[in-house]
Amino acid sequence: MQTQTLFDMSDRGKRCTGFSESDVPVSELSNLIPPNQLRDNAPLLPQVSEPEIARLFARMAQDNCNLDAGFCPLGSCTMKYNPKVQEFVAAMSGWALLHPDTPSEHVQGALRLMWELEQWLAEIGGMDAASLQPPAGASGEFTCLRVFKAYHDSRGEGYRSRIIVPDTAHGTNPASVARCGYQATVLKAADDGRMDLKKLEGALGEDIAGVMLTNPSTLGLFESDILAIADLVHSAGGLLYCDGANFNAIMGYARPGDMGFDAMHFNLHKTFGTPHGGGGPGAGPVAVKAHLAPFLPVPRVAEQGDKFDWDWNQPQSIGKVHGYYGNFLIAVRAYAYILSLGPQGLRRVSETAVLNANYVMDALATVYDLPYPGPCMHECVLSAETIARETGVRVVDIAKRLIDYGLHAPTMYFPLTVKEAIMIEPTETESKATLDCFIEAMTQIANEAHTNPDLLHSAPHSIHLSRLDEVNAAREPILRWRKEEVDQR
Ligand SMILES: *Cc1c(COP(=O)(O)O)cnc(C)c1O
Repeated sequence: MQTQTLFDMSDRGKRCTGFSESDVPVSELSNLIPPNQLRDNAPLLPQVSEPEIARLFARMAQDNCNLDAGFCPLGSCTMKYNPKVQEFVAAMSGWALLHPDTPSEHVQGALRLMWELEQWLAEIGGMDAASLQPPAGASGEFTCLRVFKAYHDSRGEGYRSRIIVPDTAHGTNPASVARCGYQATVLKAADDGRMDLKKLEGALGEDIAGVMLTNPSTLGLFESDILAIADLVHSAGGLLYCDGANFNAIMGYARPGDMGFDAMHFNLHKTFGTPHGGGGPGAGPVAVKAHLAPFLPVPRVAEQGDKFDWDWNQPQSIGKVHGYYGNFLIAVRAYAYILSLGPQGLRRVSETAVLNANYVMDALATVYDLPYPGPCMHECVLSAETIARETGVRVVDIAKRLIDYGLHAPTMYFPLTVKEAIMIEPTETESKATLDCFIEAMTQIANEAHTNPDLLHSAPHSIHLSRLDEVNAAREPILRWRKEEVDQR
């Protein structure tokens, strides 16, 4: 079945809603809009009725995997169910209809919310100051590396040019390093998957600007030598960055600031239950220790007496990293999340996330390979290397077969250091029944790999689109609808 688009359903004269005639004369418009930006012809927009459009979007939502519909154990991504109270709060007109240019005396509530959220995040991370501006985790990394650079420059140590990144790191880490004009030194992990202290010592030097570390790592392992690592980095004059994307493993139990990290980012869309994926807005607030606070992006939200205001007077700031002050309505959701859970609730999030991951790891450790023995933190990494060798079935086949069981696949082929990697993050929002159902499916699929490998090679069998050309879809995405082009395809 070909998926229908609004354009396919379009017919002249169909309408969702009626607008009255514009009372702004066209001559007036051409005064307001530069003539070269005025179009000669009306755009060819689809013309459809409201029931058609409502049903199309409902159908597309059902066709897509989504967290209101089911489990999505994508490791490292933290795809958890988002409580509806956050949507309710963010939809309140007092927040939702604010214009970012409104004078600060009229938006005291919004400023206070941002200020308090910054305080809370700093507290939860063991840091001294925060900024909500970066719109994603990767952007938080970039922001903090620029802060590192500004810090070193301010001390006359602008010659520091290298950032050390473990080979298990998320791809955004080396990318952020490069974007900041630094060179990445990639460090191979020790046999137990953790940072190799000897190798770290060897890689440090006068030209080191900093080290980026994910704790717990993308292997779901806690860096137990973190205090020694922090000492080593600091005595070489470097700064230590925490990729906080996996913060839901330790939130309420341990704080990067206490481990010796100088800066970190949070993924509100992972840890704090704000929407994740679908191309919508995210947020990657950063938090830093006091010595880095002067370099944070402007404007800062400042408490002045009993009022809040924008503070632009930060001469050492790296400047702006996003329009206005980041994705405000995402901050509203995270604020509601923290407020509704409270300190004990945030601890429970981590406890349950770690418990769930260990439960799944334990149950599947005899079915798949377990490259790094547990206990794990919030996610576990298995491997299908033995199954692949014995049956020719690869992880992608297992992932596709899971669709027939009505389940979204875990992350596959990441981290890059593990062959046939299957990275499972159940998250704290899933019940034991859901986890058991997933374990059962993964176990049956492992059996099928031995008894009927072709069934897996040709999976999925239950949906109308099966093996898509994902590489081409990413490299040559078709982002516009043209009738002639559709007819040709
Ligand atoms: C998701 C993730 C990131 C990047 O976060 P985005 O919000 O997707 O930019 C960085 N590091 C780790 C470990 C992650 O899991």
